[in-house]
Amino acid sequence: MSAVSRVAIVGGGAAGTAAAILLAKGGVTVDVFEAKPDISALGSGITLQGNALRVFAQLGIWEQVQEAGYGFDVLGLRTPGPEARILAEIPDQRTGGPEFPATVGMYRPDLARILVDRATEVGASVHFGTTVTGIASDDDGVDLTLSDGSSGRYDLVIGADGLHSRVRELIGIDVGPQRTGMGIWRAFVNRPASVTHTELYYGGPCFIAGYCPTGDDTMYAYLVEKAEDRSAVTDEQAVEIMRDLSMAYHGPWDDFRADLSTASRVNYTWFTQHVVPDAWNRGRVVIIGEAAHSGPPTLAQGAAQAVEDASVLAELLLAADDVDQHLWDAFHARRLPRAREVVEASVQLGTWLIEERRDADIPGLMGRIGALVSEPA
Ligand SMILES: Cc1cc2nc3c(=O)[nH]c(=O)nc-3n(C[C@H](O)[C@H](O)[C@H](O)COP(=O)(O)OP(=O)(O)OC[C@H]3O[C@@H](n4cnc5c(N)ncnc54)[C@H](O)[C@@H]3O)c2cc1C
Repeated sequence: MSAVSRVAIVGGGAAGTAAAILLAKGGVTVDVFEAKPDISALGSGITLQGNALRVFAQLGIWEQVQEAGYGFDVLGLRTPGPEARILAEIPDQRTGGPEFPATVGMYRPDLARILVDRATEVGASVHFGTTVTGIASDDDGVDLTLSDGSSGRYDLVIGADGLHSRVRELIGIDVGPQRTGMGIWRAFVNRPASVTHTELYYGGPCFIAGYCPTGDDTMYAYLVEKAEDRSAVTDEQAVEIMRDLSMAYHGPWDDFRADLSTASRVNYTWFTQHVVPDAWNRGRVVIIGEAAHSGPPTLAQGAAQAVEDASVLAELLLAADDVDQHLWDAFHARRLPRAREVVEASVQLGTWLIEERRDADIPGLMGRIGALVSEPA
């Protein structure tokens, strides 16, 4: 028995496709509506923690992720300045269990393609270039109107449409992302053989300079600065700014700097935070993933929390007979405190950097979140 037989999912990112895969595998008819015209993902690379990998195994995509990405178990710390001295190489916690590496770095579009292909393979219908224009929910179902003029009735609508969620707005939730005061430059570059795990440089002109390998020949590098209005910056200027900011960092940064060009997909984004309090649903419409919560990627938990939302929601829907308050209470009890704790910790890390708190217990905070997310969601 399942509480739903027909579900619409708005948004085909990590949260939406994960929910689609699990529900379709459970025999539910699933339509995914994705606004973009095809599979693409902003940015360059993504750092996936073990607890995300554990959900990927549940989705049946772990082997593909392992093959396409770059796994490692160590976090390195280096000093800014010419020596780029290695301060520490810290064994990273395998939060998904011993069978998965602590972390996998990956090219974002590869992950997006694996997720969409799997959703299609298990029977979900993915409609690109389509968005939602109206939602009317009653006790028994939801009427959804779409940008192509069509409409449909569903037992449940899942808003997995990211940070600036239209579904969130349509159901009247007015809690949304707030800037944290930091912005990040990211670039996709060639991986020198010396880069075999994430390394972070704290201090210098940026709060953090870091990089993460994503494949045999690829990696992404990033610089976190005080948030600036960079909206008018051209691709050429972006390369120049990133090159200038990186001058204080050496070691592998010398290679990336030489490699930086407009082909490096240099991208600038502000960090945000929000957690929708109390309830993520209004009747038979629920938001998950970044529609419901966001935090700065200081703990690289965004995608993990998004797919955990999907996994818990699908598990409860497939096990229940009805979409009722009991189901929503169970969902919120398992998801809200955990997502909130992760967001608050990732914001705290950023705040410590902005305030230059030398006494901050960063290892303690990371250990606490590592222990939390090591427990299955
Ligand atoms: C700079 C930066 C770096 C990050 N780095 C990491 C990292 O290293 N590791 C990590 O785990 N997380 C990271 N994150 C967070 C991570 O990207 C998100 O948490 C994760 O992508 C959330 O997945 P989602 O499916 O909820 O949303 P998204 O991935 O944003 O997917 C939402 C989808 O919905 C679609 N959509 C939007 N509006 C509509 C609409 N109206 N109708 C239909 N479709 C719509 C979008 O096109 C998109 O495909 C980072 C975030 C930022 C900003």
